[in-house]
Amino acid sequence: MAVLVTGGAGYIGSHTVAALLERGEQLVVVDNLQQGHKAAMLGGVFYEGDLRDGAFLDRVFCENAIDAVIHFAANSLVGESMKDPGKYYHNNVYGTLCLLEKMNEHGVQRIVFSSTAATYGEPEEVPIKESDRTLPTNAYGETKLAMERMMNWFDVAHGMKYVSLRYFNAAGAYAGGKIGEDHNPETHLVPIVLQTALGKRPHISVFGDDYGTPDGTCIRDYIHVSDLADAHILAVDRLRKGGDSGIFNLGNGTGYSVKEVIECARRVTGRAIPMVVEARRAGDPAVLVASSERARSELGWTPSRDGLEDIIRSAWEWHLANPDGYGDK
Ligand code: UDP
Repeated sequence: MAVLVTGGAGYIGSHTVAALLERGEQLVVVDNLQQGHKAAMLGGVFYEGDLRDGAFLDRVFCENAIDAVIHFAANSLVGESMKDPGKYYHNNVYGTLCLLEKMNEHGVQRIVFSSTAATYGEPEEVPIKESDRTLPTNAYGETKLAMERMMNWFDVAHGMKYVSLRYFNAAGAYAGGKIGEDHNPETHLVPIVLQTALGKRPHISVFGDDYGTPDGTCIRDYIHVSDLADAHILAVDRLRKGGDSGIFNLGNGTGYSVKEVIECARRVTGRAIPMVVEARRAGDPAVLVASSERARSELGWTPSRDGLEDIIRSAWEWHLANPDGYGDK
């Protein structure tokens, strides 16, 4: 049986494809290549197309013996989602509806879903637990929450089992520097800091140093992308064994401030990395740190690349070897 990976040419998708291939899984990858990179896929049978195209999905399900889906395909930029929420509802929510309906039609009853800490919004307390309030502060988080709720009702009605993985701050790159993070435009802290180290940007803009944190900059929970990839495999295993639906946070449980990330990148790269403090970015909570106890106890997940230095070093190897990313956009 094969695992279908939607959005497998994207950042976290391609790292999960790499981990599944290492495990010897049969893979089918679907991506519309809007954001993804063909070169990021290290294997599997590839179909270029969109989840909203029913005839296309019929072909994918008919031509392959698929028993589980890992669903990454979505737009994921907070800022863009505030300017163009319709795009997010169409691609993320409607795209997921199309996928679930086709899974149901073709008798595929297991889905692992790429969710986000943005479903929580401003936390009431940290570390954040899965049972905490979900009140997204942006359209992106709202669509991811809607997709989770949709899966819940497909479970109730059709017995389709899901595992939703709520990522905190994914960073780093696959060991060996073959694949890594390349977004266009890039908005994430770690790649922007490393592009600054490479001299591709004049400085890193720090979005606010007047938060109520020890150094005034925002605190986030950085988790290695390959540790995230491992969690998807454990989630597929859980569903294949007949395990129940569930929602799991994925983070390290340790927070680092923006300034600490920059300091760490200076140590790892040996470069100066100029920094300029600017205004706060709209919608940024001061502190986001995960409690991943549930993933540890119920999925047996143990992040093994959990030091910030290890995460930044792996990302730096990718950036040094690929200063222009995949060079295809
Ligand atoms: N950030 C920053 N400068 C940048 C990009 C990000 O100061 O150029 C900050 C951002 O305000 C947040 C943290 O770095 O506090 C992580 O941001 P990122 O966009 O990487 O992830 P998010 O936490 O928004 O998912």
